[in-house]
Amino acid sequence: MSRLKNPQSEESFPETINRELLIAEVYTWAHRIGVAERLREIHIRPMKRKWASISTRGRLTLNTELYTQPADFRREVIVHELLHLKLNSGHHGKLFRRLLQSYLRKYR
Ligand SMILES: [Zn+2]
Repeated sequence: MSRLKNPQSEESFPETINRELLIAEVYTWAHRIGVAERLREIHIRPMKRKWASISTRGRLTLNTELYTQPADFRREVIVHELLHLKLNSGHHGKLFRRLLQSYLRKYR
């Protein structure tokens, strides 16, 4: 579950992508992180309180507002959710945070 701050107010160059691009980004990251086979479903729909969520069964739900978020932020949301799948846990402990930073740095 991502309860992330909306960074839009700090960004001068909002961008827009579409459904196909967002799904392509998710699969690119799923392969990098090694969870592509466990990612079963991707749903994109309006969400009131969250940017995304993922179930232990590999059902990823993304907020449609991600289409208009900065690429860096979108990437962080995607990697965050896929790491929950990788670690099979909804916790945000030290290992989770370390892996998140390491993936984001590695592919910057
Ligand atoms: Zn989370």
